[in-house]
Amino acid sequence: MAKYCRNCGAELKENQAVCLKCGAMVEDVNKSVSVEDDGNIGWGFLGFFVPIAGLVLYLIWKDKAPKNARMAGKGALISVIIEAVSVVFVLIIYFGLFAFTGALASGMGSSMTLLTALM
Ligand SMILES: [Zn+2]
Repeated sequence: MAKYCRNCGAELKENQAVCLKCGAMVEDVNKSVSVEDDGNIGWGFLGFFVPIAGLVLYLIWKDKAPKNARMAGKGALISVIIEAVSVVFVLIIYFGLFAFTGALASGMGSSMTLLTALM
């Protein structure tokens, strides 16, 4: 399909950035943006599995593609939160086992003391 200069109305060729007749810039923003800003859930998954990439995409797209930026940022954030929670879980399990083995060694009394200390 043919395009026309918004300034003078001259016909433009495909991928022509400047009008040859009047020198006006051809506005074709949608074509220059390689990624559609549709807030695709895929960017959320990318941010989730590669939080660094999600953060970088968020910073790059903050202005150009805010929906995608939010999606990628959200994925990265959820990933970081889950990671933090799993670290806490690992610590709880670790200290739980420590308390359990402590109970085997010196009876139930000390394990209860340890558990109350941990709570
Ligand atoms: Zn023109």
